[in-house]
Amino acid sequence: MTTTELAAAREGMRGLKGKNVLVTGGTSGIGQAIAVRFAEHGANVAINYLRDPSEAAETEGQVHACVAKVRQEGVRDVVVGADVSKEDEVERMVAQAIEELGGVDVLVNNAGIQVSCPSHELSSEDFDKVLAVNLRGSFLCAREAIRHFLAEEKPGSIVNISSVHQLIPKPSYLGYSVSKGGMMNLTRTLALEYAGQGIRVNGVGPGATVTPINRAWIDDPVKREQVTSHIPIPRAGDSDEMAGVVAFLASDDAAYITGQTIFVDGGLTLFADFREPWSSE
Ligand code: NAD
Repeated sequence: MTTTELAAAREGMRGLKGKNVLVTGGTSGIGQAIAVRFAEHGANVAINYLRDPSEAAETEGQVHACVAKVRQEGVRDVVVGADVSKEDEVERMVAQAIEELGGVDVLVNNAGIQVSCPSHELSSEDFDKVLAVNLRGSFLCAREAIRHFLAEEKPGSIVNISSVHQLIPKPSYLGYSVSKGGMMNLTRTLALEYAGQGIRVNGVGPGATVTPINRAWIDDPVKREQVTSHIPIPRAGDSDEMAGVVAFLASDDAAYITGQTIFVDGGLTLFADFREPWSSE
């Protein structure tokens, strides 16, 4: 390693040390890995959790596990409760993160849900619920973060956790597909609108990742094999592999990148059915 490389390794990813990062849905899966990864790079983190009485015990345990991991890295952390689909709660959450950390520099819109149902049987309530969390929630958090960046006249970075389903349709998950498709233009439009103010907006599109959202297949060897058989790099991804790319996009190494979504998917978006030519010979 050269002297410069050694110095960089000691410093962590460029421009993250001492930054304040708000991660929505930060108590499990990809969000938890993101919070921990930023802390590893010396950033302070505000970990959002969902205040839902029916999930309180699990959420609380995960928040405590997350905070414990972050504390090990010797950085400041706060936990901030909010349902991201509720405007007043988002306003309060962002204000609390700003107040308790002394500002926010990076927002990661990670909170997300999905509902499985054939589209002709899907209720408008379930469709609205998924859009409200995944897309409207991301808009509301982004709006509050951008207001803060503009008021402070400082640069900022937003990373939206999208999905391969930003590109690939997902039958029987209509709300999810629509929300992640919308995520592309949330990312691109905000990126274009605020590039001149030093605010970068990017996305990460995970492929099949081992997290609680996939509890339907991760512990079932047959179903899991069925999932991985479709992936060119033949395995599921893990949360840490998503977190590394999120940290990169928020870092100074990505200072000239905005409006992009990086798919972290083992090649899932490469149309694997075309691995062997079949269409034109
Ligand atoms: P997860 O279920 O572990 O995480 C989702 C998080 O969102 C949880 O912490 C949950 O509490 C939080 N959340 C849900 N509704 C909320 C609300 N109204 N307000 C605040 N927080 C709320 O699953 P995950 O896989 O870690 O998902 C994280 C993100 O990654 C999601 O946006 C998901 O769509 C995306 N993603 C996951 C995969 C995958 O295979 N796991 C693939 C592509 C995209």
